[in-house]
Amino acid sequence: MNAVVAADFDTPAKGAVVEIAPGILWLRMPLPFELDHINLYLLADGDGWVAIDCGIAGPQTEQVWESVFDEHLQGKPVTRVIATHSHVDHLGAAGWLCRYWDAPLLITRPEYDFATHFLAEAHAPEPEEQVDRVQFFHHMGMDAKKATTLLDISGSIAGLFDVLPQDPQWLSHGMSLSIAGERWQVIVSEGHTIAHASLYCADKGVLISGDQVLPRISSNVSTRAQDPDGNPLNHWLGSLDALKILPNDTLVLPSHEYPFFGLHRRLDQLTEGHIETLDLLLQSCADARNVMQLVEILYPRKLSIFDLFLGGGECLAHLNYLLAEQKIERWLDENDVHQYRCI
Ligand SMILES: [Zn+2]
Repeated sequence: MNAVVAADFDTPAKGAVVEIAPGILWLRMPLPFELDHINLYLLADGDGWVAIDCGIAGPQTEQVWESVFDEHLQGKPVTRVIATHSHVDHLGAAGWLCRYWDAPLLITRPEYDFATHFLAEAHAPEPEEQVDRVQFFHHMGMDAKKATTLLDISGSIAGLFDVLPQDPQWLSHGMSLSIAGERWQVIVSEGHTIAHASLYCADKGVLISGDQVLPRISSNVSTRAQDPDGNPLNHWLGSLDALKILPNDTLVLPSHEYPFFGLHRRLDQLTEGHIETLDLLLQSCADARNVMQLVEILYPRKLSIFDLFLGGGECLAHLNYLLAEQKIERWLDENDVHQYRCI
């Protein structure tokens, strides 16, 4: 198959569940964002269930989960909670879910540490980190008002996290989990976040892909204030390539949109999309430009402040990639803003 094809399941309504296969449930959890849902999965595991990802913290998520517990789990508890990565829609409600069932959280250590640091910083900002962040946005050519708004947004995202579960169990690349007697291999990828975990079961031919592979939209790959010279796009492209080791007829269960077939084609499409962006940036840097000017070229529409955050980070990730390839040069201009130009 050389196309990306939606698998033949009815998409559940928000808050509802569809059975993908015996022992695999697909829960469509609502989100109060432009991306208005996250797909969560439940795997039957003998006398209990393994939950994969959680939703954001708060009463709406809890209500949906409680109705799922009542109607779909056959009276069995959730015995393990897996978070693919530290983003709020995946990890936000983990504290509640783990407390509710007295179940452990399984997550990679870098993702847990990242979330711990993010929440500590949001609740009690370190002045030095705040200064670094404002400077990061300023270097991109963003005005001070927008930069301050973005700092506030990061505080409001922190409010969508429950207290993180203590004593998590660590997931790591290559390890296997036994679920209902079957092996699920953990595949850790860098680029969207620092150590995102996907789960692959060869026996079932199923990949629970988190945000690593989505069928239509491309996951955000951003350089962030915490690592302004980081090159996450390099890691991301490598991680897409590495997934080609999986069979093309794998059923992919992603965190957003819909389950699909055509893994290899989708991996190619994602890579091609980034190559197009790199080409467009190279053309656009014939004259010196800053990140905010380049964002307008990459995304020629009105962007919300949050889109600007995502788009700016993504643009910077591509620029850092081109810098590492020595295709462009960068310098600070007289206003302390980074300028980029082709070499
Ligand atoms: Zn994510």
